[in-house]
Amino acid sequence: MPIKDKPTPSRPRLIANLLLGVSGLFLLTNLFLPGAFGTQNTSVPYSLFIHQVQEGEVKQASVGQNQIRYQLKGENGTPGDVYVTTPIFDLGLPNLLEEKGVEFAATPPPKNGWFTSLLGWVIPPLIFVGIWQFFLARGSGSGQQGVLSIGKSKAKVYVEGESDKVTFTDVAGVEEAKTELVEIVDFLKTPTRYTQIGARIPKGVLLVGPPGTGKTLLAKAVAGEAGVPFFSISGSEFVEMFVGVGSSRVRDLFDQAKKQAPCIVFIDELDAIGKSRSSGGFYGGNDEREQTLNQLLTEMDGFAAGDATVIVLAATNRPESLDPALLRPGRFDRQVLVDRPDLSGREEILNIHAQKVKLGQDVDLRAIATRTPGFAGADLANLVNEAALLAARNQRQTVAQEDFAEAIERVVAGLEKKSRVLNETEKKIVAYHEVGHALVGALIPGSGRVEKISIVPRGMAALGYTLQLPTEDRFLMNEMELRGQIATLLGGRSAEEVIFGSITTGASNDLQRATDLAERMVTTYGMSKVLGPLAYQQGQQAMFLGDNSPNPRRSLSEDTAKAIDVEVKDIVETAHKQALAILEANRELLETITEQLLETEVIEGEKLQSLLNQVKSAELSLSNLR
Ligand code: ADP
Ligand code: MG
Ligand code: ZN
Repeated sequence: MPIKDKPTPSRPRLIANLLLGVSGLFLLTNLFLPGAFGTQNTSVPYSLFIHQVQEGEVKQASVGQNQIRYQLKGENGTPGDVYVTTPIFDLGLPNLLEEKGVEFAATPPPKNGWFTSLLGWVIPPLIFVGIWQFFLARGSGSGQQGVLSIGKSKAKVYVEGESDKVTFTDVAGVEEAKTELVEIVDFLKTPTRYTQIGARIPKGVLLVGPPGTGKTLLAKAVAGEAGVPFFSISGSEFVEMFVGVGSSRVRDLFDQAKKQAPCIVFIDELDAIGKSRSSGGFYGGNDEREQTLNQLLTEMDGFAAGDATVIVLAATNRPESLDPALLRPGRFDRQVLVDRPDLSGREEILNIHAQKVKLGQDVDLRAIATRTPGFAGADLANLVNEAALLAARNQRQTVAQEDFAEAIERVVAGLEKKSRVLNETEKKIVAYHEVGHALVGALIPGSGRVEKISIVPRGMAALGYTLQLPTEDRFLMNEMELRGQIATLLGGRSAEEVIFGSITTGASNDLQRATDLAERMVTTYGMSKVLGPLAYQQGQQAMFLGDNSPNPRRSLSEDTAKAIDVEVKDIVETAHKQALAILEANRELLETITEQLLETEVIEGEKLQSLLNQVKSAELSLSNLR
């Protein structure tokens, strides 16, 4: 059902266009066909004319500034031929003509002078009006933009039957969200089934989830399946420099939508307009955004139950920043969580995207899914593409499992940097450092398996790296595991201490992460016995696991702040001692593995596992630490 309607030109506009056409025609004839109303004469060079005058062949001449027309003497009384020539500036000409007895006169001024000057007055305004009309006509097209349509909504109308149509089969790993949206589509297709029993069809559905989990994709799938018009616009498109533009766009959008009902309005990145009004910025709030939000609220309340069905779908990855007024029943009363996919979800998503590339026989999507916990749909789509690019670069016809392995590493650790050459001492330090991480990591429960140690530089900062990939999805961590992670992070630095007795700058990122983790244990997870189960951080913790943006601390008494610092320091130092103890106990192994690593630069697979299996747990075991 194509719903982009062509605007029908109104009567005054027709007249204007007609006038424009006629005047254009006049202009053309006047400009380019000056001789169209007179006779056409042969044009000759000026020198020939002078010659003919001197020979006495010329009967009469009419001399103009730009043109001389002259007639030759005919034979036996017949009129001679008429020629024209272009004069040069020649003051002697009158004398010459007189001398040779040529009748001559100046060319009379053009007869149509009044007409030309009239055109000169009439045509420019007509052209102006014509251009004006042209832009008006363009501006009122349903999707397009004209210079005069600043207040119009920029919503794109999704026309069904487009070739790249998205359906629910293109989305995987977010089953709950899918179920919910399938129901919405059903509302739109058979509303009577719901209204008959008196159920109220929801007005607003908010898709909430981390970036890249497929919110926009889901909305497109709804558009593809619903069979009703679908207006799509991004929240940021409402926000303009001029106060009032956003709200008039909202009004326009809903006006259009109501005309096309039943239909769906999709507002992507809702947080761009829906930010809590109280959290106004620096300069006492943002008028424009507030007005836009108010208009949106009004519009959502505007269509009553009996009204035409308009369902508002919106997406955001920052639900905590939305204005509470948006979330109350009757507006976005349904919130659908679009979370990062679990293991089988990842496998399905990989499956969807792998259809677009040629897979080799050895590819095991399940294994890839296992190694990519925390990846969102967009990451997986990107992963498949990276693997395909690698295969192409290696001149392979199909994508192999090893391409995927390399692609995962690229995503996790960054690109290899062969150009960064370390000197021998640095290489040695890096090798001990990484083996230190690996040895401690091998002993720590719940933090996955050490898959690879490498001293080939990669990514922004890493000179070497230890790849530790989880063997299963984890949604909760206990205190022991977190302490273990901190110890693993400190394993690198501890190895440097054990071997060289000194520390390099290479561990700063490890320390940063270890300290952050320890601080979160104390202030967010309530894992400190001294400080108790209190949240010392302001606001909600970020909604999604893995989103580690630190929150500002609550206002604390000086004593509490000090106590927190002491606790954090204590956790990190205990972990440090633990790492040191493990490395001291395995010093021989540390030396052997490092030697091998320096030789081969990379250790992975079976070989690594057999080496790491020899790690002895230290005296200071995890359980009797505290
Ligand atoms: P969001 O809007 O949640 O930030 P998008 O919908 O824009 O994420 O996702 C970006 C791309 O990632 C999609 O076009 C799609 O190729 C891929 N993708 C994301 N989630 C999924 C999913 N659940 N199933 C299949 N592909 C997905
Ligand atoms: Mg999106
Ligand atoms: Zn390190």
